[in-house]
Amino acid sequence: MAEIYPGIHWIKLPIALEDSDLEHINVYLIKGSKGYLLVDSGWNTDESFSTFHNYLLKNGIAFQEIKQILVTHVHPDHYGAAGHIKELSEAKILMHQIEKDLIKPRYIDMNELLALTDKQLSDNGASEDEVETLRDATLGLENYIIATQPDTTLHDGETINIGTFNFRIIWTPGHSSGHICLYEPEKKILFSGDHILPKITPNVGLHPHSIDNPLGRYIESLQQIKKLDIELTLPGHDEPFKNPKRRINEIIRHHNLRNQEILTALESDGKSAYKIAQMITWSNNNGWDDLPPFHQRMAVFETLAHLEMMATEGRVDKYSHQGVYYYKQK
Ligand SMILES: [Zn+2]
Ligand SMILES: [Zn+2]
Repeated sequence: MAEIYPGIHWIKLPIALEDSDLEHINVYLIKGSKGYLLVDSGWNTDESFSTFHNYLLKNGIAFQEIKQILVTHVHPDHYGAAGHIKELSEAKILMHQIEKDLIKPRYIDMNELLALTDKQLSDNGASEDEVETLRDATLGLENYIIATQPDTTLHDGETINIGTFNFRIIWTPGHSSGHICLYEPEKKILFSGDHILPKITPNVGLHPHSIDNPLGRYIESLQQIKKLDIELTLPGHDEPFKNPKRRINEIIRHHNLRNQEILTALESDGKSAYKIAQMITWSNNNGWDDLPPFHQRMAVFETLAHLEMMATEGRVDKYSHQGVYYYKQK
């Protein structure tokens, strides 16, 4: 842990969940003339907080010097501790307008989202028992976050000037509907959040609160980043890396292969998203039965994102039969 670039501290914080593929979450402190901008916050756990606090102590940085906390998206690993750090620093919290709108349904008044999630699973082929198993999968995530509202909402194209850095906000929907990246055109630095990760393919699912066609939007957002001149990418997980174009191509290739796999699964007859998710090879060569319920649910929503994208592009037909959606090859 050190300055990864003059004026940018890279701090690795621990992950709260045991069955995660991720080793840590990265947060970044950017030095300005009047204080620091923090990019993402880590989970709201004692372990994460003490790691962060120790880093500040070691580097002689006081909480009060943190003036702004920019949240790339409101997943618990990026947003969880923002409220806690705000209490100690009085920093302002910044995020995209769409992420702000997700705070209440995701973390404060969750009953509606739970009901919508159940409906989405059963509409897409899960039986009542299966819906119940998958429903219990995420209970408790709200314990790892403090649901704090932002002080400022951000929009695509706006700029944040801090010290010698002039960041452009780039709205990159897909992994989360209001996900943003931060781009410094002169220094050629991109803070990529969970939009582009060096090793893991970011999860893109069609959830009840997703933007239309999230995978299509995600790929468009990747193409948009591909046009930028970037020398250093600072992601939300794993290590900083150099060449995002190559990584973007790999991620797009992964999604094309997954589309092919789904089209093959659709060869004989129409199937529901739930059925197709059971036929796919998931990460680390896991079959459906090897996945814990939380990952099974992500798998169904990912499959759905692929199907919706291919339906939008006219590559598959979607039809409904006895209250369940099915997809078939054209
Ligand atoms: Zn995320
Ligand atoms: Zn993350």
